[in-house]
Amino acid sequence: MSLNEINNVIVKTEIAKGKSVVPILQNICRWSRTYKKIDVLVKNSNAAFSHVISAYYAGIGTIGDSHNLITKEFGPGVRIVSVLTDAPIEPDPKLEKNLCIHCKKCLRSCPSQYFKEVKGSIYDMDKVKCTEYHVKLKNEHHWPCGICANICPIGDDLKIYRKVKDVTLKGIKHCQAFGS
Ligand code: SF4
Ligand code: SF4
Repeated sequence: MSLNEINNVIVKTEIAKGKSVVPILQNICRWSRTYKKIDVLVKNSNAAFSHVISAYYAGIGTIGDSHNLITKEFGPGVRIVSVLTDAPIEPDPKLEKNLCIHCKKCLRSCPSQYFKEVKGSIYDMDKVKCTEYHVKLKNEHHWPCGICANICPIGDDLKIYRKVKDVTLKGIKHCQAFGS
C-alpha cells in the first residue's frame, strides 16, 4: 500500500468517526514514478504546507542542515504524508535534541553546490536550482538526486549497511554524477 493510500484509509476512518480531516498527499512531482511533473516546482517553488515542518512539530524528527527531516531510526530516509484533523490525538513532544550533527557531508556532497553555510542556522539552499538539477537528471532518464539524504550519517538503520563492504569509490562517483 502506498503512503497516499494509507493517508486515504486514515482519512476515511476519521470521517467515519465524525472528525474533520484534510489529507495532504505527497508532492505532485512524486505522483508519477518517473517524476514527470517535477518541472512544476521549477515554475512555482512555493508551497503552502511543509511535511518536514509538520513532522518536526509532530515529534517525528528534527530538521537537518540539509533541510531534510532527520529521524533517529531512519535519518533522512523517510517519506511523509500528513493529515490535518480535529481528532483528539495525544501529541508526541517535539524532539529536544537536534539530530543533525553538522558534519557538512551534505554541504560538500551536493553535486551542484546549492547549499551555503549560514552561521547559527540551517544552510541556505537554492531550491529552484536544486529542482532544475532534478529536471536535468530526469531528462537524461536518471532518477532524481537525493545525495544530501543518502550521504547523511544519521539513522539507526545505517548500522546494518555500515557492515557492507561493497560500496566503492566508483559507485559513489556514479551516484554523485547521476543521482542514483
Ligand atoms: S537533492 Fe541533490 S542537488 Fe538538491 S540539495 Fe540535495 S544533494 Fe544538492
Ligand atoms: S549530512 Fe551532516 S550536516 Fe547534513 S543533515 Fe546530515 S548530519 Fe546534518
